[in-house]
Amino acid sequence: MFEIQTLRKDFPILQQTIYAKPLVYFDNAATTQKPRPVVEKIKQGYYNVNANIHRGVHYLSQAATEAHEAARGAVRDFLGARFAHEIIFTRGTTEAINLIASSFAEKFLTEGDEVILSEMEHHSNIVPWQIQAARKNLTLKVVPIDETGALDLEAYRRLFSERTRLVSLTHVSNVLGTINPVETLIAIAHSHQVPVLLDGAQAVPHLGVDVRALDVDFYAFSAHKIYGPTGIGVLYGKEKRLEELPPYQGGGEMIASVSFDKTTFNDLPFKFEAGTPDYIGTTALAEALAYIEQLGRADIAAHEQELLRYATGRLQEVGGVRIFGRTERKSSVVSFLLEDIHPYDTGLLLDQLGIAVRTGHHCAQPLMKALGVEGTVRASFALYNTKEEIDVFIDGIKQVRTLFKR
Ligand code: PLP
Repeated sequence: MFEIQTLRKDFPILQQTIYAKPLVYFDNAATTQKPRPVVEKIKQGYYNVNANIHRGVHYLSQAATEAHEAARGAVRDFLGARFAHEIIFTRGTTEAINLIASSFAEKFLTEGDEVILSEMEHHSNIVPWQIQAARKNLTLKVVPIDETGALDLEAYRRLFSERTRLVSLTHVSNVLGTINPVETLIAIAHSHQVPVLLDGAQAVPHLGVDVRALDVDFYAFSAHKIYGPTGIGVLYGKEKRLEELPPYQGGGEMIASVSFDKTTFNDLPFKFEAGTPDYIGTTALAEALAYIEQLGRADIAAHEQELLRYATGRLQEVGGVRIFGRTERKSSVVSFLLEDIHPYDTGLLLDQLGIAVRTGHHCAQPLMKALGVEGTVRASFALYNTKEEIDVFIDGIKQVRTLFKR
């Protein structure tokens, strides 16, 4: 197991004080902090290897191209994909889902076709489908959740019809922490010959994901939630699936030849990567993946699960705490409400103590509606968090409670 205090030195931001209190950063589901090697990679990239990629004959351009394509290879290895050209770089999970929604709808969806989503989706896996639904007169069908925050599998089975064309679900809920039984969900969809897109934004930072073992058709995630830079994301797609889809955006890089009479498109993955990509960001993502591999994904998961167990137990001791998301398989996220105290008040008071949590609807308003609340307070833990920080957080929660009792 890694030594946590040594590891924290890799994250300079964690050393600071906020309002003269040591920072307790529990907003990791929104974005994670970046270790030195990742920031160093960005710096060294701009200092030493910056040149536009793919078209240059000169040394720097070739070095930058090699680094960028090596990063694609690192993501392929990380996801267990078959080919590097099945890895498309995007700006994030949101853009990856928009890409599929737009291209898939363009090619395959016509009036009356159905797409299955769930009640626990982030807005980025709802709104792109609503845009296509409005454009093409599609029907969106929604899998409900049960009282523990798990998907209702029987309801899911019943949603399939001969018009179902795609299933698009989150792997892990950003609010409830629920780890969905994606193997089963995919097998059911495939038994109807329906492909599946998984939103892996909250899964890859915590779980080992093997896209081939899952047999998932499309998989999306964001670098910034896994200790990498902002502005970079990944869309994995099975070669056959990506090949049959039309380009999402037009521009440089994605073409084979252009004339005013006819343009032909480039091969995978470039067909989906119009314009100059963030080739420094991709190498920093590869560095982030190497960083967590070197710590050990299983050890990170064990540490985070211990933090989750400890935080849940201590929160329950406080009394008056309502926790949302009680499935057995959960990622290190605790969403809760403290009696009838507004989540913003809880968040603001915790902030005064140097504790960063997220409050509100967490970009999941349909889920808030299903839970019958306006918002929650969410504490989410990453590899650098400690039990001592959870103790500080629990003391903070007690102070909030006392303050509002008076
Ligand atoms: N999906 C889930 C489950 C998320 O938690 C998030 C971010 O909070 C997203 C999608 C969107 O990610 P991004 O804003 O990086 O595109």
